[in-house]
Amino acid sequence: MSARQQKRAIRQCIFCPTKGRMSEEHVWPKWIRRYVPFDTPAHVRASIEDQAHQENILHAETRRGDPRYRGVHFVCHGCNTGWMSALQNAAKSPLLAMARGEARHLSEDEQKLVAAWATMSVMTAEHLYPDAVAISSADRLAFAQNAGPLPNWRIWAASAGDNDWKGFHVHGTRSLSFPDAPITPNGAPNTQTTTLVIGKAYFHAFSSHSPRQAEGIEMDMTNGALKQLWPMQGSIQWPPPTLDARQAQQLTTAVFEMIDDRFGHDDPRFDPERLFQL
Ligand SMILES: [Zn+2]
Repeated sequence: MSARQQKRAIRQCIFCPTKGRMSEEHVWPKWIRRYVPFDTPAHVRASIEDQAHQENILHAETRRGDPRYRGVHFVCHGCNTGWMSALQNAAKSPLLAMARGEARHLSEDEQKLVAAWATMSVMTAEHLYPDAVAISSADRLAFAQNAGPLPNWRIWAASAGDNDWKGFHVHGTRSLSFPDAPITPNGAPNTQTTTLVIGKAYFHAFSSHSPRQAEGIEMDMTNGALKQLWPMQGSIQWPPPTLDARQAQQLTTAVFEMIDDRFGHDDPRFDPERLFQL
């Protein structure tokens, strides 16, 4: 669907029952352009299927311009200018320090705000690929109720410093069978990871329709570069040691590898991982 068609479409807001023409929500907030230049001349938009570590490129397209100008039309005017705008403003100060790599003590209150901001952005950003929506509508509606991070999510943050990893947004989806969330007949994805890079701040999030899947996921392969923002684990001194480009890439698929190790989801017929990336 073209951007123009998206704008005209009548649909329901992803966060509330409002129906109509949706407003544009920017995944990378407009206010950050003053501090982080959006100057990438071209980018590759790709979708990749990974079946038992065999990568198959489904689609790859070079586009002009910086992908961080992109927005999605899936949010109503009321949500956009109401609680979402309020959350942007509330999280701005700690988020900006993280995006610029500035030394700062992040209190638990600030971590919670940034985790809420990341949740909102991850929920919005997956609509860059409307066929790849893996977050449950129950999660979105629960989040919109109080704009706080959800108990069944995990959110981490790292400082990418000036590493040369070129990712902006990587959305990984799978359709996995869990006792409390069986695979739907149409095979729609029910489990997701998202990597979102804002300036020097690297965010990674995990959620599943099966609420218990986030329990016990420990991401500790980065020698302290990756900090768990949510659920909180005490105050954080920012920036942590810089995440290098290899770690940044590895982390995009690390959670799914952990799930495979834990549950033996190794039958490639049913749950190939799909990666959608900018
Ligand atoms: Zn709404």
